[in-house]
Amino acid sequence: VEPTRDELLEERKKLPIFPAKGKLLQNVQQVSTAIIIGETGCGKTTQIPQFLYKAGMHRNHTIAITQPRRVAAISIAERVSKEMGTELGQTVGYCVRFEDVSCQATKIRFMTDGMLLRESTLDPLLKRYSFVILDEAHERTVHTDVLFGVVKGAQKRRRAKGLPQLKILVMSATMDVDQFSQYFDCAPVFYLEGRQYPIQVKYSVQSQSDYLFSALVAVMQIHQEAPLGQDILVFLTGQEEIESAVHTLRDIVKDVTKQYAPMIVCPMYAALPTGQQMRIFQPTPGGVRKVIVATNIAETSVTIPNIKFVVDTGMVKAKIFNPNSGLDMLKVCWVSKSQAWQRTGRAGREAPGTCYRLYTEEEFEQFSTNTIPEIQRCNLSSVILQLLALGISDIVHFDFMDKPRPEAILAALDQLVLLGAVEKQEKVQLTLLGRQLAAFPLDPRLSRVLLGAKEFDCLEEMLTVVSLLSVESVFHTPYNKRDTAHAARQKFISSEGDHLTLLNVYRAYKGVKGDKQWCQENFINARNMQTASQIRKQLREICVHLQLPFKSCGQNTGVIRKCLCHGFFTNAAELQHEGVYKTVASKKTVVIHPSSSLFMRKPGCVIYNELVQTSKCYMRNLSVVDPQWLYEAAPTYFKRKKTAN
Ligand code: ADP
Ligand code: MG
Repeated sequence: VEPTRDELLEERKKLPIFPAKGKLLQNVQQVSTAIIIGETGCGKTTQIPQFLYKAGMHRNHTIAITQPRRVAAISIAERVSKEMGTELGQTVGYCVRFEDVSCQATKIRFMTDGMLLRESTLDPLLKRYSFVILDEAHERTVHTDVLFGVVKGAQKRRRAKGLPQLKILVMSATMDVDQFSQYFDCAPVFYLEGRQYPIQVKYSVQSQSDYLFSALVAVMQIHQEAPLGQDILVFLTGQEEIESAVHTLRDIVKDVTKQYAPMIVCPMYAALPTGQQMRIFQPTPGGVRKVIVATNIAETSVTIPNIKFVVDTGMVKAKIFNPNSGLDMLKVCWVSKSQAWQRTGRAGREAPGTCYRLYTEEEFEQFSTNTIPEIQRCNLSSVILQLLALGISDIVHFDFMDKPRPEAILAALDQLVLLGAVEKQEKVQLTLLGRQLAAFPLDPRLSRVLLGAKEFDCLEEMLTVVSLLSVESVFHTPYNKRDTAHAARQKFISSEGDHLTLLNVYRAYKGVKGDKQWCQENFINARNMQTASQIRKQLREICVHLQLPFKSCGQNTGVIRKCLCHGFFTNAAELQHEGVYKTVASKKTVVIHPSSSLFMRKPGCVIYNELVQTSKCYMRNLSVVDPQWLYEAAPTYFKRKKTAN
């Protein structure tokens, strides 16, 4: 049963933030920028925008609240529109990549930081807004960090021009307060009282070699020993791992010979469809235990009620960039101490709790104190492209809170030059092509491939491939039907690689007009296909706007692989022996990911979209290419590589 608005109001009044409302508003009234710190769950994200709105402080403009994650933006907007008793998309709305559920009348607009950044390229003074609330500021994604500088700059320039004030609120449960305050012109800091009950922290006695297995053991042990009604939150690193843990737990509990108490197991990760995410907020029925298996999204972004136990593997999947090799990859590594404490804190929101750390105290002592901001460890080409589109050409002197490494800036500029997006004369500037690339909300390499498609008469196909690459897997592999799913997949497999396999899936899907039954029979993820179709529509609109010619290559699919080389020439690898590849750029040893359609084939030369480092360094989303195509796509790059080697 859905709670009524009055019931929600009663709940809201119990939030720690409620008694502080008057003082908070008074303080915000007096300053242009403020920093607000309060425990996760105290009500910052859902309540503060409503306080400002009800008090009329938005002066009939819009309040933007940025979130690093799209899931958070969507779920919080839904919650707030319910609390206000309005239809989502009206007074309260959200805007995330490929999805804008808001209108001109929207006054409280939750958005990803990437979307606000994109909006600022069209309106650098952010004139629509009277407030920008930079939420989850401690997350320090690349977009958040760039937004800090952009929003701060907009505030200054509005003041200089005598335009209405832009107020900035920076919010978090945890952050380096001094650094933030200093960066935001000595902004005052408000501490909100939170509720935090004592939490017992238990370390592993021995170092664990298999954290996934250890997590499952810990959950089952708690499930057998602790009274029902006390829920468990487990931190793992990513979708695949989480789905596998969820299915294993469900299977264990289902096993009739062992007689376990009932357990509801819910996954939680960014790519999870919204409907399924909402399940974690539903109250647990009596006589049942709820176990939520989540990524670091549950550290601070979303508040999950009724958690008594936290199982922390200490692991997180992070983006790592090596400017020397030019490789950006996902790698599972230890969290920082501050992340570990946030995870622990989830166990003590409503009552005293326990946190099981699946690492030793000595290992914990080796963790870094704070998480290194993403801007100091990932590929910057996308962000630099956007800064250039904003008219900011002096990247090195941009007002960063923490400057990216100069070699990372150079590597990104170099990549943009190779893609033809940037010219370096006396100053760095966008080319016409670069301006077109910046119009797409995509990695510049993917945008480059779309623009390149006009030379190869395959824009229709390329739109499909790029859209499908923008969603999580289109294949659905139920844990207990792996072999059947694998067999069903064979008819789509292309010997040319994953991109053409994706194209085959899409063509077949369109052939049956997206029939759900067909998807189910063929183990295709219908929801992801639908999302991809929507993304395709939006990308197509941008192409229409740029007046690109819509042509189809039909069965001549070789041109698609040729065209891919124009974006991904840096991501090429050549077969050495026995399935081992070396990247052309940096001679790094890599292998084909088992999910790839080329896994058994092992062609001589491939390009790939991404690298994932687990026990080995895996290439994902590959196509077979001719080395000559690579050379034709970027002769300067390969000449230079030859000289260097
Ligand atoms: P903060 O931003 O300070 O971490 P929030 O404003 O996100 O806190 O959440 C305040 C409270 O609102 C939470 O403690 C939780 O009880 C409730 N809440 C938030 N989102 C939801 C939701 N989608 N469903 C149910 N309750 C929610
Ligand atoms: Mg919050």
